[in-house]
Amino acid sequence: MIMEETKLLTDKSLEEIEKLAADYGQPKFRARQLFEWLSKGKDFDAMSNLPKAFIQSLKDDGYKPCGVEVHRQFKSQKDETVKYIYKLNDGNLIEGVLMKYKYGNTLCVSTQVGCRMNCSFCASGLDGLIRNLSAGEILGQVIAVNALNGGEGSRGVTNIVLMGSGEPLDNYDNVCKFLSLASDERGLNVSKRNVSLSTCGLCDNIRRLADDGYSPTLTISLHAPNDEMRRQIMPIAKKYSISDIISAVKYYFDKTGRRIIFEYSMIAGKNDTPECARQLADVVKGLACHVNLIPLNYVKERGLDGSSKKDVYRFMAMLESRGVSATVRRSMGSDIDGACGQLRRKILEDENL
Ligand code: SAH
Repeated sequence: MIMEETKLLTDKSLEEIEKLAADYGQPKFRARQLFEWLSKGKDFDAMSNLPKAFIQSLKDDGYKPCGVEVHRQFKSQKDETVKYIYKLNDGNLIEGVLMKYKYGNTLCVSTQVGCRMNCSFCASGLDGLIRNLSAGEILGQVIAVNALNGGEGSRGVTNIVLMGSGEPLDNYDNVCKFLSLASDERGLNVSKRNVSLSTCGLCDNIRRLADDGYSPTLTISLHAPNDEMRRQIMPIAKKYSISDIISAVKYYFDKTGRRIIFEYSMIAGKNDTPECARQLADVVKGLACHVNLIPLNYVKERGLDGSSKKDVYRFMAMLESRGVSATVRRSMGSDIDGACGQLRRKILEDENL
């Protein structure tokens, strides 16, 4: 199969930009200059040190410097969280969240427009999968936020979590290319250790990721302590059982040495009972792992309520008393529709798109 060449320049590695520049008779240092401008989110007209004729030829041939622009932003009144709605070159909208912590700034990025997984509590899957994002479109979210916040350094993005809309391991090739591009020290230079990938548990691709030499922190959206309950809330559980997941994450840990994070969104009266805590402790016992508990964010189309604070803390205490390390995550930016896919839907409604 012959792959059609991408016209989005942020899809390309420095080596690919060098090849492209060579096709236009440009030396390597010009490619390097172009690559640096692209990493800073600059449009063609701002690339002041490049020959005008080179830029014009790229424009004439349909190349685009950037695939993502910030369409709207919402700042939380409660904390320093900012939610972004980005517009892609084809007009599709995606969303992301910037969370500021003492140790740095974490950007949550989307990997697909929509999602095929259709988890029963999640807004991203309500319209199914619209399309995959390319590597450059995933990267472009980081570039766009850095550009808005005055570039790199302490105000730039230091940590990336693939936890926005979409299932990253259902867009495997583009996500892997993104992982390489984001950590390139000649480009965005985000440390490999500072990138997390969250998955609903596509076990074959978890193993493949480790085999292919990628080692982001792996977060598993578990959300249930047994297969029966998991099948009720996550359709993917019909394909992979919890024991399939445990064996895949053991494999991942053996290959990468990275501790596994389990995400457990707590749904009132469903997965938050003491019996669930006991079962969950048995499931993860003995693994090098940590459990993040987060009360479910209410999504109106889904109609499920988050657990009460009291139930969440009781659950955490039960895990800890069984030797499982667990924390309750703050639900940041809940006043600005922090949960995946929620804000995008609201904007689509507001703007009648
Ligand atoms: N598809 C990937 C990543 C995207 S979702 C995954 O499943 O991990 C990021 C996390 O937010 C997942 O753990 C997901 O289950 C969770 N999530 C989705 N909707 C939520 C909601 N309404 N409240 C709380 N967490 C939610």
